[in-house]
Amino acid sequence: MFYRESMYKPIDVDGEDYYLKPMSCPFHIAVYKNAKKSYRDLPLRYTEYAQVYRYELSGALQGLTRVRGFTQDDAHIICTKEQVHAEVVKCLKFSLYILKSFGLNDFKAYIATKPPKKSIGDDELWNVAIADLIEAVKECGLEYDMDEGGGAFYGPKIDLKINDVLGREWQCSTIQFDFNLPERFKLTYVGADGQEHTPYMVHRALFGSIERFFALLVEHYAGAFPLWLAPVQIGIVSISDVKHGAYCKALSKQLINLGFRVEVNNDNEKLSAKIRKLEIEKVPMIFIVGDNEMSNNTVSVRARGLGDWGQVSIEEFVKKVEPILAMGVPKYQGLDD
Ligand SMILES: [Zn+2]
Repeated sequence: MFYRESMYKPIDVDGEDYYLKPMSCPFHIAVYKNAKKSYRDLPLRYTEYAQVYRYELSGALQGLTRVRGFTQDDAHIICTKEQVHAEVVKCLKFSLYILKSFGLNDFKAYIATKPPKKSIGDDELWNVAIADLIEAVKECGLEYDMDEGGGAFYGPKIDLKINDVLGREWQCSTIQFDFNLPERFKLTYVGADGQEHTPYMVHRALFGSIERFFALLVEHYAGAFPLWLAPVQIGIVSISDVKHGAYCKALSKQLINLGFRVEVNNDNEKLSAKIRKLEIEKVPMIFIVGDNEMSNNTVSVRARGLGDWGQVSIEEFVKKVEPILAMGVPKYQGLDD
């Protein structure tokens, strides 16, 4: 295999060699091969959040963006030759939907071609597959650049690379057109003609590495996540813990039941210090509670970037916040089956 140098050495367990899994392809292939398949079963789409391990040189490691063990949202779509184009287009639309949903609009498509040394398959087939990927990118209205020699060893791919705030490019989504592994692993399906045929396969990851994607999001938003994405959406602080602590706790319970992610700050500090702390943490909504709020059954709201909302009841808050929560999440209209 061409993958050995990216893998860790085997671990001896009771005299048997165990390997850390570097990719999911062979396992999904084994699932496919478990039972005989007919053309009526195709396309078959297998997906998993897979923990994979790849040997990276220690000098190449960086934060969460380049790590030695990561989670890949890996999928393999096994289909007929006739279905492969539509499947690639669907994957690409799905990727675009994901990136746009997270507010990542600054990215570029690359078509990666046959690696000059470590690759398998006829040039002619590679060229057909590359032309098909270019067609798919155009169908989705994307501009693209060629990445000569940057393909997987088994076929060409479409990579979507995101530009971060520092202008660096990071690979996220990848969609790979594979006409080689199904043959090597002897995958078959019975066609409408009653004969055995070799299917095609699409390898795809939308986020790529979840860890890297998360790092990109942190950088992209400089920590100031939109309300729907913020790990803590509402921070509650009070003027006096002794007087208002129980009210804050009840509020937090009510908000959590409504589906919000809430934290109450009970630190024995001045109110201004507690507010400052939440502002530094870029918590989108800060609720301030004092005697007035407690007797009126309200909270005073400071909304990050939206100013002071004054005293509102929880019902009023929910009404006001609903359109903000819904903002920026486009409706997906790509996968119809
Ligand atoms: Zn794969």
